[in-house]
Amino acid sequence: MIWYPYQQMKTMNEPYEIVDAEGVYLYTKGGKKMIDSISSWWSTIHGYKHPVLTEAIVTQAEKFSHVMLGGLTHEPVKRLADKLEKWLPGDLDYCFFSDSGSVAVEVALKMALQYHVNKGDKERIGILSLTNSYHGDTFKAMEAGDDEDYHFVLEAFGENDNVVHIPTEIDALEAAFSRYHASLNSFIVEPLLQGAGGMLMYDISFLQRARELCDKYDVLLIFDEVATGFGRTGNRFVADLVQPDILILGKALTGGYIGHAATVTNHKVYDAFYSDDPDKALMHGPTFMGNPLACSVALKSIELFEKEDYMSRIARITEIMHREMDGFTDPRIKEIRIMGGCICIEVKDSRDLKGFREFAYEHGVFNRPFLSYMYAMVPYVITEEQLVHVLEVMKKWFD
Ligand SMILES: *Cc1c(COP(=O)(O)O)cnc(C)c1O
Repeated sequence: MIWYPYQQMKTMNEPYEIVDAEGVYLYTKGGKKMIDSISSWWSTIHGYKHPVLTEAIVTQAEKFSHVMLGGLTHEPVKRLADKLEKWLPGDLDYCFFSDSGSVAVEVALKMALQYHVNKGDKERIGILSLTNSYHGDTFKAMEAGDDEDYHFVLEAFGENDNVVHIPTEIDALEAAFSRYHASLNSFIVEPLLQGAGGMLMYDISFLQRARELCDKYDVLLIFDEVATGFGRTGNRFVADLVQPDILILGKALTGGYIGHAATVTNHKVYDAFYSDDPDKALMHGPTFMGNPLACSVALKSIELFEKEDYMSRIARITEIMHREMDGFTDPRIKEIRIMGGCICIEVKDSRDLKGFREFAYEHGVFNRPFLSYMYAMVPYVITEEQLVHVLEVMKKWFD
């Protein structure tokens, strides 16, 4: 028996059974063809069954599908680390791989704490993070996040004094730094776009000020770009605009083919671990870190991203979203937000989205609204006609 994610098993709707997938389309057992408007949780940026990506996996699988990274290494992981070192901005040069975004967040938070401990400061046990943030489902990631789904954890453990949540306002940011700076090891954010918190968007000036304050107080700035990376905000990475000390990548890293993630640090962080003292080493090592299939497909995914000029495609997606949606209103709608390859229609009452998944399915679109958010994060290979259809279905719901 499968235990499905984020579901009350007793009352959940049947999931659609997928038997094939190609490009932006999913094919169900029931014979339905539908556009995946949310890219399988924001990951399949190149669409499904991409010949180049599939070949990368097959070719590597014929050699070896996995070897551990403890005491062993291999070409795909070396090439991916080299590629990321060159491709990512500034001196974000050191890649620690793991098997999922949540684990990569755990690694980042562990690094931030140990960074200070290694430098002789054991008092910095605090984390600053944002209200409505989401950083994954593991315990420390839940703690850093601010998601009401975990209310039972808060109830069980009580308020955690070591995590401070602030809204995305510069005043709140400055106040938090002046009050807590001596106890903070890091400030973790989903930069510009808070995904699972409701596709909330905020201004780059907030991150610029955060960078200044982090520099001033030696607090590590962590960008969780698991969702925002690889073009989703209309920037390749938000890290191209403001540089974090630690950058976390996941979801689209492998083009959505296999779970994999990376926690990438700059020289300052790495240097605090680099020592003759074994106690200063990073003690972490997921069994499947640097998996050769994942690294091979990630490399090809990045090559496609560059070769096919995805940044122009994403700009075009944004343009079409504005053209189709600007001026669209309904009394039930609270706000429509668009950024890069993401659109969100927030309604006033979540009950107004009940049944939308089935409605979209009937119209050949796979969508999965949550709370009061109807959103799309389309694959970048989507055609104008397909994208317009997705947006039409979203609008038609309000007829
Ligand atoms: C999805 C997500 C994660 C968790 O990644 P998993 O691979 O699901 O563990 C972490 N941070 C952000 C911003 C995410 O969107």
